[in-house]
Amino acid sequence: MFQLVLATNNIHKVKEVESIIGDIAVIKPLSAFPGAPAVEETGSTFAENAVLKAKAAAAHTGWPALADDSGLEVTALGGKPGVFSARFAGPSAGDEGNNAKLLEEMRRVPPGQREARFVCCMALAWPDGKVWTTTGTHSGWILMEPRGKNGFGYDPLFYSPELGMTFAEAPPEMKNRVSHRARALAGVRNHLLSL
Ligand code: IMP
Repeated sequence: MFQLVLATNNIHKVKEVESIIGDIAVIKPLSAFPGAPAVEETGSTFAENAVLKAKAAAAHTGWPALADDSGLEVTALGGKPGVFSARFAGPSAGDEGNNAKLLEEMRRVPPGQREARFVCCMALAWPDGKVWTTTGTHSGWILMEPRGKNGFGYDPLFYSPELGMTFAEAPPEMKNRVSHRARALAGVRNHLLSL
């Protein structure tokens, strides 16, 4: 059994990680180790940010640490909002503001050119300084208006051809089987099993 600290205090993420690798790893949230320094996400890629968070958590705890960074990349916007997904419309805009800004920036982008993908990078940092990363993606396109009430973030605007509905119309279990996060976590699982 591996012992991993998850560099998040988001209980939903802890549960999602446990559901995919809980049979091979004991997962502790970073909050179990008081005094962890706040990490600024200054990287220009998802991988850089995930590595920053994982390394800081491993250094603080002395445990192997897993961290993720994720977001939406829209082809017509040159990959935006990317690493700025959470704060696309400003530091305190929230999901509604971010979705409104996305629709506004894509007002003139016709159907057929609205490709986008969710990306999740997971980094595993070992206390000896070694780092390993993997990336999961889910491709789709951005609708002209929101559909569905489930999920969070850009889910209501993101149509998945694989699911035949938006991420916000999909029941959570359905989204969680094929999401960018689930795919990155499958990579983590395979990597741990190969060690
Ligand atoms: P985080 O790095 O996982 O906290 O995600 C950063 C931002 O990316 C979130 O605040 C959302 O705006 C967006 N995002 C990441 N994953 C998803 C998803 O599964 N659905 C919708 N938005 C997401």
